[in-house]
Amino acid sequence: MAKKNNENINNEENNQDGLNEIVLSETSGHSGICKYCNQVQLFEAPDGLSDLAYNDIASDKCDCAGAKAARKKKERFKAAGLWAKDKFSQDDGQLQLVLCSINATFNGDVDAVSIKIGKHTHKVDTDKDGMIRIKTTFRESNEEKF
Ligand SMILES: [Zn+2]
Repeated sequence: MAKKNNENINNEENNQDGLNEIVLSETSGHSGICKYCNQVQLFEAPDGLSDLAYNDIASDKCDCAGAKAARKKKERFKAAGLWAKDKFSQDDGQLQLVLCSINATFNGDVDAVSIKIGKHTHKVDTDKDGMIRIKTTFRESNEEKF
C-alpha cells in the first residue's frame, strides 16, 4: 500500500479515497473486567469499543475457572452447531429450530426439546455432565386407529 501523502492520511477531512482505512479502527492497550471473576485484564484491542465489549474480551482472555468453563461450553455449542448444520436443512427453517433448541437447552432455559420431522424424532437435552445430547429415533409408524 503506497501512501502518497504521509500527513493527514488518517484525517477525517481527507477521506475521499481513504474511507476504508478510517472505518478500520486502530488497536491499542485496553482493559476490561472479567465477568466471571471480576478481575481486570489488560489486552490489545480495537479502540472505541463499549465498556461491555471490553469486558467481553477480558472474559474471553481470562484464565479463571469460570472463563475456562464458558469457553469450553462455547466450543461444545459450536461443535453441536456444526453437526446440526450438516444434518438439517437450512431452507425450511429446520436448522434454525434445532440451533435454537440447542441454545435454549444449553443455557438451561428449557430442560429438553423434541422435534419431529417426518419419521425422525430428535430430542435435545443435556446429560448429567452438562454435555449437549441429541438423540434421534426413527420410527416406522404403524399406528392403527379404529
Ligand atoms: Zn476471570
